[in-house]
Amino acid sequence: LAATAAVAAFVGSGTVSAEEAERTFIAIKPDGVQRGLIADIIARFERKGYKLVAVKILVPTKEFAGKHYAEHEGRPFFEGLTDFLSSGPVLAMVWEGQGVVTYGRKMIGATKPLESAPGTIRGDFGIQVGRNIIHGSDSPDSAKKEIGLWFTPEDLVSYGLDIHKWVYE
Ligand code: ADP
Repeated sequence: LAATAAVAAFVGSGTVSAEEAERTFIAIKPDGVQRGLIADIIARFERKGYKLVAVKILVPTKEFAGKHYAEHEGRPFFEGLTDFLSSGPVLAMVWEGQGVVTYGRKMIGATKPLESAPGTIRGDFGIQVGRNIIHGSDSPDSAKKEIGLWFTPEDLVSYGLDIHKWVYE
């Protein structure tokens, strides 16, 4: 009987706190889409324990790419970067979970793939900085901005995930 009660209590846990509900914006760039890396990349975030709350595939306009990369306007690579981001389909996503902004960046690796550790997405799949597969927000503030740029609030799906009780204590 005691064991049953303990099991019942455990099954009732897994409530997601505000901290666990941290969100980040992740985008698979046109090179990642063309190279067939969508499933691999989604699998990495999913298996980590993070929750996918929004996803869409679209070809951004160059103007929209410029908004996304506004902080780089004026840099020598800006034109090439916005041309490239708008050159084909991008898979835009919002992932949710504890530490997802910072840890998501660790999973992605350094900006330059040759400086990214093996095991990271850019380390495993990329070579050059202009073909580095994936974007991830670099702070909670930029995550908020980027999620707001790419998605409407209604796009974000709120749902419980049964595995959370096995991921969070
Ligand atoms: P990250 O994507 O790691 O946050 P940055 O915000 O510094 O990196 O740069 C945004 C994107 O611009 C990079 O992911 C890369 O695609 C491109 N980029 C950055 N630096 C260069 C560079 N020196 N030459 C070409 N492209 C660059």
